[in-house]
Amino acid sequence: MTHLLLDLPPMSAAHFASIEDRVARLLSTRQDVVITQGEALLPLEGAIRATAGPGTTALNVVTGPYGQTFGDWLRDCGATVIDLTVPFHTAVTAEQVRGVFTEHPEIDFVSLVHAEAATGNTNPVAEIGEVVRAHGALFYLDAVASVGAEPVLPDAWGVDLCVIGAQKALGGPAGVSAVSVSERAWARMAANPRAPRRSYLSLLDWKERWIDGGRKALLHAPAQLEMLALEACVERVEAAGLETVMARHASAAAATRAGAVALGGGLEPYVREAAEAAPVATTLRAPSGTVAADLVARALSADPALPLAAGGGALAGEMIRVNHYGPEARPGAVRASLAALGAALGETGLRVDTDGALRAADAAWR
Ligand SMILES: *Cc1c(COP(=O)(O)O)cnc(C)c1O
Repeated sequence: MTHLLLDLPPMSAAHFASIEDRVARLLSTRQDVVITQGEALLPLEGAIRATAGPGTTALNVVTGPYGQTFGDWLRDCGATVIDLTVPFHTAVTAEQVRGVFTEHPEIDFVSLVHAEAATGNTNPVAEIGEVVRAHGALFYLDAVASVGAEPVLPDAWGVDLCVIGAQKALGGPAGVSAVSVSERAWARMAANPRAPRRSYLSLLDWKERWIDGGRKALLHAPAQLEMLALEACVERVEAAGLETVMARHASAAAATRAGAVALGGGLEPYVREAAEAAPVATTLRAPSGTVAADLVARALSADPALPLAAGGGALAGEMIRVNHYGPEARPGAVRASLAALGAALGETGLRVDTDGALRAADAAWR
């Protein structure tokens, strides 16, 4: 064990505020950024409970499991929820969102997941944001899996609540997260009698006791290890350049997709259109007659360090996830994953072309 992790001095308010400012720069936002002391589900849930209530009509876009969770929270808050569910192998379109607004002009809240690591799709937030803005609805975005892998621009896109986490493309720990909050969103919370107050879920507490007080006094002792780790990951992204880090993720996705197609054996990209596939992680459809979780288990038994996982829940039979994010957004991780999947498919008797897959992956790395 490294004792570097022990006996840390408490983190000062000024240091904490400087990390918030760095995260704001990462998001190119002038909104308030609140760093939340927990995994991203903390601000994701806190933001919904703060802004939604019995008077809310929410359009909840479901492109994977997180959208389903948001719908459950919204209903629990008493909101009327209109789910727009699209097949998990596609993205939602701005046209589909516009269609729901036409049928339900009373919608005043939209929840959307930008990229879903769990399904491998990414949604066109800029175009959807135009539709949401035109109708004046509050726009809530889960950018946990997109930040660092593709542009996340809450101000340019009109996002009112933009939640990020450190544990995907930023390569950080899972115990810290952040949300950028627009003036409109703060006003909605202040007017909501059911918004959490004096609660660990409360964003308003941070507004009233931290931001409005000039960020002089913290609400409680911050989780220093996670805060230092968040600072280190933003520092690392700044040093490499955000564009470079995003390009690495785009290349990893393109290489994995091309390699999987060239591998053959019936393996296919899960997300059918390349433009709808997330840069953060690539999902693959296991060949018919095979079980994704078994193939992944075989591959991992050869090398447990590979960034491979089977889909969650009901997707475990058909979906293979290549989690080429953070430190794994590099050619070696993609090549090793393809080679291991090739070996696993070969062992089940399928004909695969591993050399061809590696060549295709190398060629696709931009
Ligand atoms: C990974 C992820 C989160 C964070 O949740 P975990 O279950 O802790 O991984 C939230 N939203 C999205 C879209 C994610 O991909």
